[in-house]
Amino acid sequence: MIYTGAHHIGTARSVHRFEEETFVSLGAKDLKKVGLKVTLPRMKILNLLTEQADSHLSAEDVYKCLLESGEEIGLATVYRVLTQFEAAGLVKRHHFEGPQSVFELDEGTHHDHLVCANCGEIVEFYDETIEERQRAISRELGFELQEHSMILYAECRRPNCPKRPAGTS
Ligand SMILES: [Zn+2]
Ligand SMILES: [Zn+2]
Repeated sequence: MIYTGAHHIGTARSVHRFEEETFVSLGAKDLKKVGLKVTLPRMKILNLLTEQADSHLSAEDVYKCLLESGEEIGLATVYRVLTQFEAAGLVKRHHFEGPQSVFELDEGTHHDHLVCANCGEIVEFYDETIEERQRAISRELGFELQEHSMILYAECRRPNCPKRPAGTS
């Protein structure tokens, strides 16, 4: 499944700073910068992740997208490249619902995720109050917060949520 649904719904309390973000375009020099040799599979996968910067893609999604655009790069290679990208800090890996982890470009800005437990729809959000509370709680408990991952599992309110249990709305 390809999650292209990472649109950023504004609510009164959450601040969405993604609107202002300029399109990030990564290329050969970014590979070199993180110490990776420029190879065709790496470039193709980096391009795809850049084009779909709002998506959260599994290795299989990436494999299928490449196949659709005529690039035959094996699933094992895709997986290996994504793992190398993760180690190099180019992408972030998430474990949402299901057995597959998903990847997204690491644009250097933090956000958290809301995931529909039924259809897998993913929405990104950022809330400074939540961020600050986590830092404060860590400090109160004698820790210095380094990073966190917050995933809220919920049911999306999309009228067409494809997997909403029958008879509920
Ligand atoms: Zn849903
Ligand atoms: Zn995300």
